[in-house]
Amino acid sequence: MNQPNTIHAFTIFGPPGCGKGTQAAMIKERLNFLHVSTGDIFRAAIARQDPLAMKAKELMERGELVPDGVISGMLMNELKAILDQSTGARGIILDGFPRTLGQAALLQELLEKLNLHFTGAISLRVPEELLVERLLKRAQIENRPDDTEDVVRERMRVYREKTQPLEDYFKQRNQLIEVDGVGSLEEVYERLIPIIQSW
Ligand code: AMP
Repeated sequence: MNQPNTIHAFTIFGPPGCGKGTQAAMIKERLNFLHVSTGDIFRAAIARQDPLAMKAKELMERGELVPDGVISGMLMNELKAILDQSTGARGIILDGFPRTLGQAALLQELLEKLNLHFTGAISLRVPEELLVERLLKRAQIENRPDDTEDVVRERMRVYREKTQPLEDYFKQRNQLIEVDGVGSLEEVYERLIPIIQSW
């Protein structure tokens, strides 16, 4: 941790099914971080029938990304609300944002506006065959509309095209940390701890 009063933020990203949401929730619980998931924010906005979210709902159901403007507006509101309420948290985990190079530029703006210090981007790596298997299992448990096989494959394609370039983006800035996402939840969590503790 560097300056006092500066709130730290890091992002965790990876292909659909890599386990980022679960790991982020574990980090939140055990290390007292705030967890901000753009997927959860978007699902909550759909559940309360927010008009902007309802317009983009179909995109999510097809496995596409929601336009950057929709996501960034919702994320900004959520971050402001969460920062107002929270005291004593060690930092913020951004889960599922940024997901495009455009969003990476928005991230910079957002950090500056909210006076957050960016510590890095964790890329959780899992081979594709394992991901499809995991996602189809999750489809049975969570009943998510975007976990059917066709949609899962589309989400993988979108990931490769739009999100994977972020690896190079963060690497060029010396902000990329690659972590092996294969193993049990606890095994993966143990790999993340020393990285996060060092911030
Ligand atoms: P997730 O729960 O992170 O897997 O997100 C579920 C879906 O919500 C994604 O497949 C997208 O349709 C949408 N979504 C979540 N985060 C973003 C984002 N940062 N940019 C665009 N779309 C997003």
